[in-house]
Amino acid sequence: MSDSFSQLSLAPALARAVAEMGYESMTPIQAQAIPVVLQGRDVMGAAQTGTGKTAAFSLPLLQRMMKHENASTSPARHPVRALVLLPTRELADQVAQQVALYAKYTHLRSTVVFGGMDMKPQTAELKKGVEVLVATPGRLLDHIEAKNCVLNQVEYVVLDEADRMLDIGFLPDLQRILSYLPKQRTTLLFSATFSPEIKRLAGSYLQDPVTIEVARSNATASTVEQRFIGVSDDDKRRAIHHVLRERGLKQAFIFVNSKLGCARLARSLEREGLKTTALHGDKSQDERLKALEAFKSGAVDLLVCTDVAARGLDIKDVPAVFNFDLPFNAEDYVHRIGRTGRAGASGLAVSLVSPSDSRLLADIEKLIKIKANVEPLPLEDAGAKPVGRYNDGRRHWGRDEDDDSSRAPTPRERGGERERPVRASPRHGSRAPTDPFFDKPYEPTVSADDKPRWEADPRASSGRISANIKPKKRVAALFRSPVQVPVVAAPAQPEEVTPALESAAVPEGSSH
Ligand code: AMP
Repeated sequence: MSDSFSQLSLAPALARAVAEMGYESMTPIQAQAIPVVLQGRDVMGAAQTGTGKTAAFSLPLLQRMMKHENASTSPARHPVRALVLLPTRELADQVAQQVALYAKYTHLRSTVVFGGMDMKPQTAELKKGVEVLVATPGRLLDHIEAKNCVLNQVEYVVLDEADRMLDIGFLPDLQRILSYLPKQRTTLLFSATFSPEIKRLAGSYLQDPVTIEVARSNATASTVEQRFIGVSDDDKRRAIHHVLRERGLKQAFIFVNSKLGCARLARSLEREGLKTTALHGDKSQDERLKALEAFKSGAVDLLVCTDVAARGLDIKDVPAVFNFDLPFNAEDYVHRIGRTGRAGASGLAVSLVSPSDSRLLADIEKLIKIKANVEPLPLEDAGAKPVGRYNDGRRHWGRDEDDDSSRAPTPRERGGERERPVRASPRHGSRAPTDPFFDKPYEPTVSADDKPRWEADPRASSGRISANIKPKKRVAALFRSPVQVPVVAAPAQPEEVTPALESAAVPEGSSH
């Protein structure tokens, strides 16, 4: 169902901001959630970024806070009334920008705090007084400990991307933060999945919530053409060049599983003449924001990234996503390909499947309920050199560490001639069926009475170092206590850092 915003009787200042955004009607999550939040009910929502979720919670919260609106310059007149918690810095930044847009014609103030940035400017903003505080958990705790913000007047809490926050290990931080808040409040929890952990979290912190479910992101896959190309590891870059040329693609995200692999691939593609930047957890916050900006402005064509960029980032018009590595976790496949085909636009997701990937591919097939048709890389590309920027008549191929060939470019390569389209048999492009499965929130295949991870295995939470603890302390912990070892233990192969480990290694909310 989708409806007009006018039926909500929003305050004129909010209605004006919405009209300026150009929204014609409410998205399904907005049509369902806004009236419920306006009534003051708690909500447990299965919806992901990209569904219009931010407005679904921001608008009714701002509307309810309008009674406190005042033009006073006194910080005391602008206490924090709404707290929005998110797992990553980028998401926090994105949500804060949207909240600021919706609130721009009101006197309600908002700000964002996240790690990786100097605390001083954030502190100055907090001290001025803000009604809406958007934050990552680690940095918020830093500010609470430094007494930079007082949360005793919080009336609304939003736990956004809650499943991701638990994955990262933010549960202890969330518990601490929630313990500082007044019991009498409205709590909204949004999650991609309703796993036992999420249900348990909701059971502990939500009161008689209204459950709202909108189509899981798999459903948006109907606008995403999914291709699977079988290649050896050595041919993966060629496959990328092939698809870019074949489709005349201008921009794409390329997902890899490790930070090291991410940096290395970005360097190789850059050498091959593609304007490329890398985004991974070892980059400073400033570098991460700059990489995203460069991609958004079109200054770079390819963003090579780890799963730190898989969730929630709302970058319009990403025409294609490549899985250079298949993700270790099948759910990340859904998040990764959700970066393309947004807002009804068509998108392309290309997964490069190497012979050793059969188990990972099987996991993905099981989750998305599609049998992947693995195409071979066309012969002219298997063994050919990438030609760099397609259609510009120049050859950009540069020698790489693993490049032992010195053969001259073929006329086709020299001329940057477009490949013969080898495409579009429906057999190849696997399109998501309109199966009711895709309209339901994701339920992991565990029995309902399975205990949450942190209860089933006490070490999973008690042994887990809070994401708020700085990495250097963890190294010390490694020497002191064997119980901590699994948290910081290096994976068998240094490059194969799982997304979860990577996230844990660089806590989003930490100041590092
Ligand atoms: P979100 O899921 O909140 O990240 O929103 C995804 C994108 O949808 C953002 O760019 C919003 O500006 C946009 N959006 C939110 N609500 C609407 C709406 N009712 N109509 C059109 N676009 C919307």
